[in-house]
Amino acid sequence: MEMNLSTPDDMAADVPPDPEWEWCARLPEVAELVEWVPPVPDDVGLVTEVAGMMAVFAAEQFSRVEGLRRNALADAGRYGVVAGIVERSVRLELAAALRITEHAAGMLLARAEALVHRYPAALDSLGQARITERHAQVLLELLDAATADVRERLTGRAVELAEELPVGSFRRALRRLIETEESATLTERHKHALMQRRILVEPAADGMAWLHAFLPAVEAHAIHGRLTAMGKVIVGQETETRSLDEVRADILGDLLIEGVMTGHPVEVSRIRASVAVTVPVLALLAEDDADRHDQGHAPATVDGIGPIPLSVAKELCGGEESWMRVLTHPETGMVLSVGRTQYRPPAALRKLIRWRAETCMAPGCAIPAHRCEIDHNIAWHHGGHTALSNHAPLCTGHHTLKHHGGWSVQHLPDHGGALQWTSPTGRQYLVTPQRPVPVFTPTSDAHTRSARYTDAPF
Ligand SMILES: [Zn+2]
Repeated sequence: MEMNLSTPDDMAADVPPDPEWEWCARLPEVAELVEWVPPVPDDVGLVTEVAGMMAVFAAEQFSRVEGLRRNALADAGRYGVVAGIVERSVRLELAAALRITEHAAGMLLARAEALVHRYPAALDSLGQARITERHAQVLLELLDAATADVRERLTGRAVELAEELPVGSFRRALRRLIETEESATLTERHKHALMQRRILVEPAADGMAWLHAFLPAVEAHAIHGRLTAMGKVIVGQETETRSLDEVRADILGDLLIEGVMTGHPVEVSRIRASVAVTVPVLALLAEDDADRHDQGHAPATVDGIGPIPLSVAKELCGGEESWMRVLTHPETGMVLSVGRTQYRPPAALRKLIRWRAETCMAPGCAIPAHRCEIDHNIAWHHGGHTALSNHAPLCTGHHTLKHHGGWSVQHLPDHGGALQWTSPTGRQYLVTPQRPVPVFTPTSDAHTRSARYTDAPF
């Protein structure tokens, strides 16, 4: 087989060559052992090349735009013109010259100023095509909204995350990081915010209106979760023609106006709310969130909404049946317990698989795991097991792609449920679940059937 020594990655600016490829280049005859080698440079390589150039150009544009603003302000200072007027004038000129709206020009100026002065590390990374312009935007939007000291502490880590993750995953990871940093004062802020809870009606067109409820996040998710679970049972009936959205709205009305649901299967009325609350086990020993933060423990969180006050988590862990309680190891983040139930597939397993991933396990997909299908990595009829190491949530679209789109997906052993996606062109993308999960194995005493935490591979 003839080997071309350049690879698609060589096309992107400053991206070091993949060691695996260098190895192939030195030993061309070994490459014949590899099942398939993409044509060089292939179509994907041509696209990543131009994407790299766009990042470099975006960084250059930000630098020049900030230079324009700075020089205009310096000139104005000399002639005594008010700074606000100069900024407006620069915005108008930029909009006219680039043929974009003034609003867009204003955003460009604001981003350029932020990147040059507050996040030079992100600008530098963009200039070397290690992140995309979209990553840079997300980074500065989220960090700008945080308090100044949190921003200072997290900027370096945020750039590292941007270089590692696809945009969607990066946004979620950074948001979680900021929430965790800011959670020290959560108890106090939540106490104050609780007093703002209220119900509002907002008129809408065509004889409709919005009913808004400003509620503690756990309650809001419990309500939505219960409406969805009930709605799915009803939508699943053969005679039903309404959409899930319509049914959810109707159930809400029925329950609040009549107090009961009539004319529906009895199992619908038995459905109760269920929300997964994750609590680092030692955090429960802390007095409050400030104390917990001082001791270095992560905050309690609810899936999809972020940290909740410790006082609320303690209450939920106390006894309420409707919460899925997940206790995690303080240092490793490993799951120690899933509620009070033991590890018994399939319901608990499904729950654990979804909880572990939090979202669809395709590269960059943000569809919440509870709306995903559970995929058998190795199909049942090919001998695949029903086990944590063989499952991942995939949204309908990505599930179809996995089976019919020419992609192959592999569970990596010893990677806490990580999936390796291999595209039809042979490129590989690693997707790691949000949380690592230990293996639970039954003890030898069959009567106790207790789950035990082991270091066994996944
Ligand atoms: Zn997906």
